[in-house]
Amino acid sequence: MSISRQPEDPGKAVNLTLDDGPDPTWTPKALEILAASGAKATFCMTGPNAQAHPDLVKKVVAAGHRLCNHSVSHDTAMDRKSVAYQGKEILDAKRMIDEASGGAELRYYRAPGGAFTPQSRQLAAAHGMRSLGWNVDPGDYRRPGADTILATVERQLANGPTILLHDGGGDRSQTMQALQNLLPRLKEQGYAFSFPQA
Ligand SMILES: [Zn+2]
Repeated sequence: MSISRQPEDPGKAVNLTLDDGPDPTWTPKALEILAASGAKATFCMTGPNAQAHPDLVKKVVAAGHRLCNHSVSHDTAMDRKSVAYQGKEILDAKRMIDEASGGAELRYYRAPGGAFTPQSRQLAAAHGMRSLGWNVDPGDYRRPGADTILATVERQLANGPTILLHDGGGDRSQTMQALQNLLPRLKEQGYAFSFPQA
């Protein structure tokens, strides 16, 4: 199974993806910003964060967004570890996210740091999760400034439609500021907000 980056929407569209949450400060803010523009996103959650904040997981689903499995430990070197370890990281996270969401659809798996392997992609697919990549990575987790995040997204959109941002893992005020400015601009440019092909 190949790594998904293309939108379901056949027209001009982006796939917003928000990783490393849910987070009690930044996920509600992201939901508010998305709602203000009528935008949809895919939230790539770690199992423990989902387990710690089931209310936020349910809010994400209720608002019409989609869930993505982002493993248990966020081990960006998991592609160099055993297949058994990779499987445990994926399936334990799936159990935690399923419990938190009340069994909402979990259609995607994104390896931390993109550390996919053929075996982990296959295992995810066997459990109903398409591996999810990205085309646009502004490095928002390094906090380069909201303006830089926005400019980098707009420049890299030539690479493809799937945008990687973060609503967890640290202070995401710059990401939220960038997202707030980005969404109206994307709409002006005629982009729809889609989901990745599952
Ligand atoms: Zn991540």
